[in-house]
Amino acid sequence: MMNSPFRGTFRVSQTYKGASHKGLDLVGVTSNEIYSTTSGVVEIAGNNDPKGFGIYVRIRDGKNVYYYGHMKATKVKVGDKVNAGCLIGIMGSTGNSTGPHCHYEMRVNANSNDFVNISTLSRIPNAIGSYEMPYLKYRVKALGNDKYYPWVHDYNICDSNGYAGVSGKQIDGLQMSYTGGNIEYRVHLLGGKWLPWVLNYDNTTINGYAGIYGQVIDAIEIKPIAGKTVILRSSVSGKDYYPWVENNSTYAGSIGKGIDRVQASVF
Ligand SMILES: [Zn+2]
Repeated sequence: MMNSPFRGTFRVSQTYKGASHKGLDLVGVTSNEIYSTTSGVVEIAGNNDPKGFGIYVRIRDGKNVYYYGHMKATKVKVGDKVNAGCLIGIMGSTGNSTGPHCHYEMRVNANSNDFVNISTLSRIPNAIGSYEMPYLKYRVKALGNDKYYPWVHDYNICDSNGYAGVSGKQIDGLQMSYTGGNIEYRVHLLGGKWLPWVLNYDNTTINGYAGIYGQVIDAIEIKPIAGKTVILRSSVSGKDYYPWVENNSTYAGSIGKGIDRVQASVF
């Protein structure tokens, strides 16, 4: 599966060519927002290379550093800790650039001679063309309501406003859909048990959801997806979020306390 700084549809406008072009040039089509593809720490964020990368962000993940070049603006600052999927900047054409794009590159220890083939690493084809990054969408329903709140895409997972639900409104229904393949999810009822796993969201039936009308949900789970990282968290009604749960290591929630909001991402 691809790991792209752009969500939705994007183009490869220049391929990785080794020393003569150490990264991929990517153009966001669906969105001009650039997301980190790894967790790590922001080492550079700003106009640190006016004749080269222009306004850019560099993120360190262990020994590896990731470059996102030619931005219009950054959305992080030096020292920030980010997760994969965090919004880090807006596509632009600063520095040595002839049109809006993101130069995406990875090097070991920021050594300019120790770069990798970012196409192999990210699985973005090393060929000019249009591609689509799969995404997760999900929504929840307030207790005893007939209508769901709007769908949330996993785009702004690091944005505290990017959640499904409303603070203080306990939920009784959850729906999820993943454009990259199947997704299985389930919910636990307050004072009850785990309901059966639900496969995808079925647009054609009203039963394509996890939950029971009028019964509060207190925990949720998503099954691991091969080759992908799944993260999930929920918040007890009117309170803060519980920690992120990764790849179904445990459930998200707290048995005995109804939840009101959900955040999830697959990358
Ligand atoms: Zn480039």
